[in-house]
Amino acid sequence: MPSIIDKETFDKVQVKMAHNKRNAGHFKARRVYMLSGLIKCGECGSLMWGKSHFDGRHGLEYLNYECSAKGYKQNCDSRGVRKESIENYVLDELQNTLFSEVSMKKLAAMLSAYSVRMKDSSKIELDGALNELAEIKVKVDRIIQLVADSGISINVVKDELKRLEDRKITIEACIQEIQMRNNAAAVSEDMIIGLINKSKESVRLRNIAECREFIGNYVESVIVHREKVEIRFKIGVPDTDNDTLSPLTVEYDLEELKDKYRKAG
Ligand SMILES: [Zn+2]
Repeated sequence: MPSIIDKETFDKVQVKMAHNKRNAGHFKARRVYMLSGLIKCGECGSLMWGKSHFDGRHGLEYLNYECSAKGYKQNCDSRGVRKESIENYVLDELQNTLFSEVSMKKLAAMLSAYSVRMKDSSKIELDGALNELAEIKVKVDRIIQLVADSGISINVVKDELKRLEDRKITIEACIQEIQMRNNAAAVSEDMIIGLINKSKESVRLRNIAECREFIGNYVESVIVHREKVEIRFKIGVPDTDNDTLSPLTVEYDLEELKDKYRKAG
């Protein structure tokens, strides 16, 4: 059952948020690389890692994300990106793209339309399976009756009974799976909006522990290409032409990003 986030993740986030509130201040360091493990080089596909550079002349330390293949075997020549710039950009996109009420409502509406279509098709599937199960029961009864009436050995029909029994087990498992899929608790729109409002506040206050948590929950990857940055969210948006979900993505020009976050960096 597609939903913006599943019930389990939703509950986990709630627990984690309560925990973080009690332990606020544990992540004071500006050296926490929030995008570790998610940020990738668009040139060679390697992960990027946090690196600090000390500018002795000005007594300043710069924190960057750089391609982990740089200077190694593959010797990628991609340029690094300033830690503060890219992290602030990702947090802004979380807030603007994902946590904006307009886009959440739009996503929720699209997803509920999608799940209605899926429910309709799983009803057809379920009806088909239940029908076949009923037919198998009739066939088995008929065979048993035949054996009883005619006095032929059960061995004569044992292969056929075995085949029907196997098919019955397969169909029962299939029915169980369809029913489980249908019962999977979809998170309601109100619950999503509530969670998002809480998340927005943490992002606004740049609570590092919670921000890192949100990034991990919602961001699939951040890809730094030569001229642009791409964020792939862990959220699927239904395609208009067919019933598949594609990850929601946003892009930004790398030069513009550097300009925009110069002060912050
Ligand atoms: Zn690279």
